[in-house]
Amino acid sequence: MQILSSQFSDRAALTQYLQAQFNDLLPKTHRQASPIDGSNPTAQFIDQQIQPAAYARTRNFYQGAVSQLSPFVRQGMIERRHLANIALAKVGAKAAEKFIQELLWGEFWQHVADQRPDALWEDAEPYKTGFEAYTYKDTLPEDILRAETPNACINHFIQDLTVTGYLHNHARMYLAAYVVHFRRVRWQAGAAWFLEHLLDGDIAANNFSWQWVASTFGGKPYIFNLENVAKYCGDVVDCRPETNPELDATYEALHLRLFKRATS
Ligand SMILES: Cc1cc2nc3c(=O)[nH]c(=O)nc-3n(C[C@H](O)[C@H](O)[C@H](O)COP(=O)(O)OP(=O)(O)OC[C@H]3O[C@@H](n4cnc5c(N)ncnc54)[C@H](O)[C@@H]3O)c2cc1C
Repeated sequence: MQILSSQFSDRAALTQYLQAQFNDLLPKTHRQASPIDGSNPTAQFIDQQIQPAAYARTRNFYQGAVSQLSPFVRQGMIERRHLANIALAKVGAKAAEKFIQELLWGEFWQHVADQRPDALWEDAEPYKTGFEAYTYKDTLPEDILRAETPNACINHFIQDLTVTGYLHNHARMYLAAYVVHFRRVRWQAGAAWFLEHLLDGDIAANNFSWQWVASTFGGKPYIFNLENVAKYCGDVVDCRPETNPELDATYEALHLRLFKRATS
């Protein structure tokens, strides 16, 4: 048995060592180290990441003023309450409201998981798509795993997920909806895939968000079209119709294509 080294001069040396040891065993999408540095964040870094007023205006945009602090929250390095206090001190209760609301979603999902531990991996309710759960595929297609789907923007989001371990909330929703509704794969397969890659991977927030998109924990399925992706991500992501053929349609057309009976 080979004993692995555990002492390194810096992060670059550790990365280089791990790549030399393991790259041959890993698929191409898993070979790079995330640019997110996992060491304890400084107070200055945390402070600059929290921009509550800009957050309220721009958080749905791919380049919007989101904090990107979730990996540190997930790993127990920062408490949500601490982030809320910084936001309150910076801009006051009214302007900090949206940021604090979003922080509370994390608490909410944890409470749901405490109440419904059975629903962490089981459908909480039937799908509202017109299809029975058994008709969905159990595993992710290879082109999704390899970021080689017919859609450039989806491939971009998959690469973000697998290379950095972080994904913007809107892109998580797009990707989940693509997997479940465009490709008709069970949400459980997508949720497990996210947890494999996300540095903030949290079974409660992740799995119930997937169920919400899927419509097994909510009133209707979440879907999107190319126009919506272009509005929020078009300045950095390829949103041309010719390179995103599956997504270039009106909502009416998508409802007819993706669901068995029309859902509003
Ligand atoms: C399909 C899907 C899967 C998700 N999986 C996870 C997951 O595994 N872990 C996770 O922490 N979040 C998850 N989320 C929620 C949300 O996408 C992330 O919390 C957020 O994108 C983290 O980025 P940020 O730190 O820049 O967030 P910001 O928008 O800056 O928010 C600040 C903090 O608030 C919390 N937060 C914000 N939005 C949410 C939310 N909707 N639900 C729960 N907490 C929230 C996070 O702790 C976050 O760090 C998921 C959402 C979807 C749609």
